[in-house]
Amino acid sequence: MKFNDFKYERPDFEQVKKEFESIIETFKASKSGQEQIQLIEKAFKLFDEIDSMATLVSIRNSINTKDEFYENESEFMDENMPLISNYSNILDKSIVKSPFKDELKVHFGDHFFNQIEVSLKAFDEKLIPFIIEESKLSREYSKLIAGAQIEFEGGVYNLSQMSPFTQSVNRKTRHQAQLKVSGFFEENEKAIDDIYDKLVHLRDDMAKAMGYKNYIELGYYRMGRTDYGEKEVNNYREQIKASVVPAVSKLTERKAKRLGIKDLKSYDTIAFLSGNPTPKGSKDHLVDVAKNMYQEMSEETDKFFTFMLNHDLFDLDSKPGKQGGGYCTYIPKYESPFIFANFNGTSHDVDVLTHEAGHAFQIFSSRHHIPSQRWPGMEGAEIHSMSMEFFAWPWVKDFFKEDTEKYYFTHLSSAISFLPYGALVDEFQHEVYKKPDMTPDERKATWRRLEKVYLPSKDYDDDHFMEKGTYWYRQGHIFGSPFYYIDYTLAQVCAFQYWIKNRENHEMAWKSYYHLCTLGGTKGFVGLIEAAKLDSPFIDGTISRTIKPLMAFLDTIDDTKL
Ligand SMILES: [Zn+2]
Repeated sequence: MKFNDFKYERPDFEQVKKEFESIIETFKASKSGQEQIQLIEKAFKLFDEIDSMATLVSIRNSINTKDEFYENESEFMDENMPLISNYSNILDKSIVKSPFKDELKVHFGDHFFNQIEVSLKAFDEKLIPFIIEESKLSREYSKLIAGAQIEFEGGVYNLSQMSPFTQSVNRKTRHQAQLKVSGFFEENEKAIDDIYDKLVHLRDDMAKAMGYKNYIELGYYRMGRTDYGEKEVNNYREQIKASVVPAVSKLTERKAKRLGIKDLKSYDTIAFLSGNPTPKGSKDHLVDVAKNMYQEMSEETDKFFTFMLNHDLFDLDSKPGKQGGGYCTYIPKYESPFIFANFNGTSHDVDVLTHEAGHAFQIFSSRHHIPSQRWPGMEGAEIHSMSMEFFAWPWVKDFFKEDTEKYYFTHLSSAISFLPYGALVDEFQHEVYKKPDMTPDERKATWRRLEKVYLPSKDYDDDHFMEKGTYWYRQGHIFGSPFYYIDYTLAQVCAFQYWIKNRENHEMAWKSYYHLCTLGGTKGFVGLIEAAKLDSPFIDGTISRTIKPLMAFLDTIDDTKL
């Protein structure tokens, strides 16, 4: 069966409601653990059915936003899905109160209960009005950012359309373009400050309504973190400061030399005067290369990629009416991952076939787990995708041809350089929610102070507005998904370990990685990395040990020739 034959039927939510109510009532009155297990499994089936329909709608709507049928169905789903979360919450509450908890634990595992506990700590009915207001404010921010109309060199552009100019090889062009982007944020300073101030106070009120001191604890629960907290993350950031910040300074010096610019400014965003590495060949050619790569990589990846191709589980071309960006999702009813992308001739196209395929490979490998344990948390999930980018290295030459070495250098050095920025975004948010009564100006001063710690070489030159501490205005996660950002960096540190292991012993590295993929979300982040025998980023020494071999490899490349 091909993706186009996957059947969508609008769920009858009146019927769904009745079924959930009956499950919950029977569960509460149940006199045996065995019966409760069956009821939970019945609820899982129902969740999977509805989730599959909602996912089909969202995929088909994103492929063609002009298709009225799926546009309507999408609205219908948006209206009705909160009902499902509500039943899930009620069922969770009954599960933790069950007199047969021990029997349920034996069947579903301890982590199932850890997940329920965290979700109950993160959500209560009394938060609903706050959550509605929160998404309203987040949407207001997104709308403001998406609505940017920046006049530049005779044209009018939104923020993402400005990026070819802000990354131009012509220094004057990228400098002026950056100033224009800055100007957009300056014009909206008051509006952005207001939205963020409201969000911070709202989240602080949410935390207090749930009995927490401030939003930090609640924010961690809302991220679904079951086995680490603020203290561990703080220790991790300290290691970034000690080991990665100096390494990035070295990379920056190399870049200055490469570009022939003595003192780099914040607008010197380009990596090479000769442009970025680009894949060679058409979309079909790149998919063929990927097919060959997954065939050679392992038996498991071969089976996976063949499945994806046989069922048409990709939509890769850019076309009119198609939503931007890329993602990987999963349709439980058909046990099928799906990859959505907009190919554009940049190295992004290869990322889709390695990074997004890494996500798809993981969900394919863990598809038989219970619904809440197929995907891990975000920090766990990105290990699979970022590591797959590294497992793909032996085939990079087939994608990039003469740009292979340039790709290696860029891939590794930009991943290392990202870590301090990610930690900066995270520490900033801890400061903000620790002191929710800071004024907008105090928040900006906090950003600039921390920016000097994590990105000491950042020089804004004549950009006075950025110098004030406003770069974070463009980082959507800070507004819409608090405390999420550090997850990318945690996963990156784990993926680096696979880069190292893979060069030392491919067999062992692959075995550990595949095992991690099959585990899906059956454990928390710390539990997963223990099971895969990776070093925890939270423990002293891990970061410096991980960075060293990467920097040594980069030293073997003469980047002045690239
Ligand atoms: Zn990803």
